[in-house]
Amino acid sequence: MAVLTERAEAGLRAIVGERIRTDRVERRMYSADIGEMPRLVKPFVPAGLAGAVVRPLTEDEVIGIVRLASAEGLKLVPRGASTSGYGGVLPVEGAVVVDVSGMHEILDVDSAARTARVQPGLIWEEFERKLAPLGLALRLYPSSTPSSSVAGWLAQGGAGFGSYEYGMFKDNVVSARVVLPTGEVREFSGDDLANLVADAEGITGIITEVVVMLRDLEPETHRLFAFDSATSLHGALSAVSAAGLPLWSITFLNPESTRLKKTLPHRHGHPYEEAHDRYEPVLPEAFLAVIAYPSSREDAVGAALADIAARNGGSELPADAAEHEWEQRFAPMRLKRVGPSIIPTEVVVPLRSLAAVLREIDAKIGQPFVLEGMVGKGDRVVLLGFIPHDSRTFAFNAAFALSLTVIAIAKRHGGAAYSTGLYFRREATSVLGADRVKRLEYFKRAMDPAGLMNPNKVLGRSFIDVVTGFAATFEPLIRPVANLMKPPTVVTLKERKGIPEDVAYYAYACAQCGYCVHTCEEYSGRGWMSHSPRGKYLYLREVMEGREKFDQKMVDTFLVCTTCEVCNTRCQLQLPVEHSWMTMRNRLINEEHRMTFPPFEMIAASLRGENNIWAGKRDKRADWVPEDIAPKIKEKADIMYFAGCTASYVTTDVSEATVRLLDKAGVDFTYMGTDEACCGIPMKVAGKWDQFEEIYVHNTTEARKRGAKTIVTSCPACGLVWKEMYAELARKRGDEFEFEVKHYSEIAAEAIADGRLEFDHEVNKTLTFHDSCHMGRAQGVYDAPRELLKAIPGVNLVEMEHNREEGLCCGSVVTLIGEAPVAPVLGKMRLDEAVDVGADALVALCPCCQVQLRASADKKGIDMPVDDLSRIVMEGLGFHIDSQNDYSLEMWGYFEKFIDLMQPENMAALMVGLLPQMMDAMPVGMKPLMKSMKYVPGGLALMGAMMPAIFPVLAPGILNRVMPDMLKAVDRHVGALPEDMAALMPDLLPKTMDSLMPNYLPLLIPYITPKMIAYIRTEL
Ligand SMILES: Cc1cc2nc3c(=O)[nH]c(=O)nc-3n(C[C@H](O)[C@H](O)[C@H](O)COP(=O)(O)OP(=O)(O)OC[C@H]3O[C@@H](n4cnc5c(N)ncnc54)[C@H](O)[C@@H]3O)c2cc1C
Ligand code: SF4
Ligand code: SF4
Repeated sequence: MAVLTERAEAGLRAIVGERIRTDRVERRMYSADIGEMPRLVKPFVPAGLAGAVVRPLTEDEVIGIVRLASAEGLKLVPRGASTSGYGGVLPVEGAVVVDVSGMHEILDVDSAARTARVQPGLIWEEFERKLAPLGLALRLYPSSTPSSSVAGWLAQGGAGFGSYEYGMFKDNVVSARVVLPTGEVREFSGDDLANLVADAEGITGIITEVVVMLRDLEPETHRLFAFDSATSLHGALSAVSAAGLPLWSITFLNPESTRLKKTLPHRHGHPYEEAHDRYEPVLPEAFLAVIAYPSSREDAVGAALADIAARNGGSELPADAAEHEWEQRFAPMRLKRVGPSIIPTEVVVPLRSLAAVLREIDAKIGQPFVLEGMVGKGDRVVLLGFIPHDSRTFAFNAAFALSLTVIAIAKRHGGAAYSTGLYFRREATSVLGADRVKRLEYFKRAMDPAGLMNPNKVLGRSFIDVVTGFAATFEPLIRPVANLMKPPTVVTLKERKGIPEDVAYYAYACAQCGYCVHTCEEYSGRGWMSHSPRGKYLYLREVMEGREKFDQKMVDTFLVCTTCEVCNTRCQLQLPVEHSWMTMRNRLINEEHRMTFPPFEMIAASLRGENNIWAGKRDKRADWVPEDIAPKIKEKADIMYFAGCTASYVTTDVSEATVRLLDKAGVDFTYMGTDEACCGIPMKVAGKWDQFEEIYVHNTTEARKRGAKTIVTSCPACGLVWKEMYAELARKRGDEFEFEVKHYSEIAAEAIADGRLEFDHEVNKTLTFHDSCHMGRAQGVYDAPRELLKAIPGVNLVEMEHNREEGLCCGSVVTLIGEAPVAPVLGKMRLDEAVDVGADALVALCPCCQVQLRASADKKGIDMPVDDLSRIVMEGLGFHIDSQNDYSLEMWGYFEKFIDLMQPENMAALMVGLLPQMMDAMPVGMKPLMKSMKYVPGGLALMGAMMPAIFPVLAPGILNRVMPDMLKAVDRHVGALPEDMAALMPDLLPKTMDSLMPNYLPLLIPYITPKMIAYIRTEL
């Protein structure tokens, strides 16, 4: 397996610093695109495993990389978002992938000229979003807008929404700056741009800037028409074109597409979505044309369009159905969910031949064929087809040949393949034209004779071309067999190589479209694909195919997801993505007994002994209850307040405000008091599901004792646990689950609405509201907290750029525990948005979000107070409750020191400090034996080599004996602890070390061994 030379790697590091990866997993993540080749064809594909991945942030860095590559004989592969499927981003073995996704700024906008100069990795969706406030919009965009990049579309070439009016993307580019294979930078425009940069898939250089033409932002009209035959659709589209109707975009679907869509399962996996989120218009199984145009053109378009449709046998569908289909425009691959694989095919055909092409496809493809069409400027229609199939079956190999059938049909009618890439280089002349091919060949000979830039793409031949050429030549003979090769009628869910059955299915179904990548909290805090949902599904596929095996680093990668659920909302297949990582946590930690993050073991010990995560004493859990409220709390009531750990021990302003609010609203409620235990979510995300189940039993039993029917929480995570996780566990165990669950904000909003509560005090502040992920995306509660804030006199509520379903995560709990330095990076993103909208304070309702955001503001020096919703609500009701801001920071400080201590290198250092005591604690005879080894030639080296085997056997006994000294050393490391925490430590630490030992020691030994050998050599 080729890897970089040390010199090359050092050279790259000198240019990009830490933004380089050479580990096998990451190289694999960057050696794939969205395409899925059949197993039998894969060996012929001239691509391999990248030698390294680099993420430059400036043009100078790109120049440096190119020059170094030239000097060291490296091959380079430019990569945008890797949403193409023609192999254009697949590296030859050992090549360096140059990921430009970090270069994603808009450099300047010329509103008068309606152009913008942007960096190459800018994602279309972000581009459009930032243009809107300037009154500008994109002239056209691809249906991969949520993930693909500007330079990627220029280099790949293509049409999109808006191509009916504006043509191909390259026709809408003023110029592009490109770092050539020589390291020189050239600005391309006009003919040179169209011939040497567009569609060239990076073989001529790396694009570092693009000047894009824009249009004015205008309200848009969307209309939907149904046609019962290809002929009728064709007739209408031709008539629209002949009449010169000033439309902006025309796309269409075939009947199979609508039929299969009806079989799609519900969204991401939360029960509330079933009730609230599922509007599906009843659409006829016909050809459906979706048409868009600026509303200002209504006079020119409106009636004429309806008339043309009617004359061609079409019927217009209701406006809400049109809007629905328009909103679905970025989900062309959603049907992959029923596959779990697809056989894709993409061609360009003349509009005049459309009906004939569609009829021939219908006649010749004997498998379900989903088709989407995009009508371009002039006589061009792009057809993107999918056959849902199952790549895990042998039949997939043969059925794949049907993609060539569609190309053959297109060519017979004057069309061509859509693109070249790696797989269709033999089609280069028909895709690009003979002249362009010659110009590209000439350019490559002159500027890149060593073939540095993206080898094996667009030009040239290799064995894969012989394979595809053979298949194309014998297409008529292969087709009947391919048509017989159907996928299984019932898709089977099977566990594979230890991956649970549902996750295994989702991993194969994932389209690798990348919509979930740049918005993922875990990814955006780090920037590497293995941390994104797309990367994780790809990794799981690699595990299932036997090419990867889980190691601790990948276990950690699955654990460190914040559970923000943004991925669920982004996934065009509506996969329950975050749920997959939850399932994996159980599999990896609970069932396979791999190591969770070490601090979770201390939390687990605290939970077992004291029922809370903050290492407080269980008999102090209810100390926060205000004296005047305590007598009003009922022993038994229908409604029970569940405070949770953080609001009980740290942010007690939250619990106090909540019970005062309930009291003021006239709600009779009960409370578990010192019998309440943590809801258990830390154990759920830590993968310790058995312990979670113990907690479930405890809490539901205690709730029943108090006659509770409705559980009211102040912590959204507690709410989610009660509402879904306990309910699901109850279902699995066959237990009754009678509880309804509400957040206090919902109860308060009801009380405001029916007049039981009335705000009579002003809070004169501009506030912005942070949607907690577990409250918003996970439970669908967005309005109640906003209604409360808006009802308080004097409050000016402003929204941050990302809000409600799109709201950014605070970056909390698992990040803090798993990779603490990343947490403030994520927290800062959220706080910056609050600063940008001029808020006096950011209001949150989750105690954990509050701790994380306060800690982030503190670390990053951001002047943005973080306040609690219930506290502010109580202010509006004339009751002041002191904020626990400072106390929560202080408590978090202790936690952080433990998290730091438990990093393997720090725990090893602590143990090294105890070497004398550890030597004394060895079994009888061991110490003299070790001492004697230093007199035996090579003895110490031998001992060092044997440590991984010896130490785990000795460690439990040694640690027991040195525990008193260890406790003192911990004291020295973390400093003075709160009284209760300090008192509990002698109980917690041994339990923590006990649970950790089997997995933790291998991580400690490499740090301890050299020090121990040195100690024996010099001190014994
Ligand atoms: C759901 C979905 C919908 C799609 N819809 C459309 C559509 O409507 N229209 C369409 O045309 N395509 C579509 N595509 C295909 C793909 O999204 C587009 O080709 C897209 O433009 C590729 O952009 P990218 O950033 O992902 O580029 P990549 O896939 O990363 O790269 C594409 C090619 O460009 C090269 N490249 C990337 N960046 C640079 C650079 N900075 N300098 C030089 N070369 C570079 C790469 O080496 C590669 O050869 C779709 C794909 C998906 C998954
Ligand atoms: S839940 Fe959030 S952090 Fe986790 S994978 Fe999804 S988007 Fe990323
Ligand atoms: S998880 Fe969904 S959004 Fe992410 S790459 Fe897969 S299909 Fe696309």
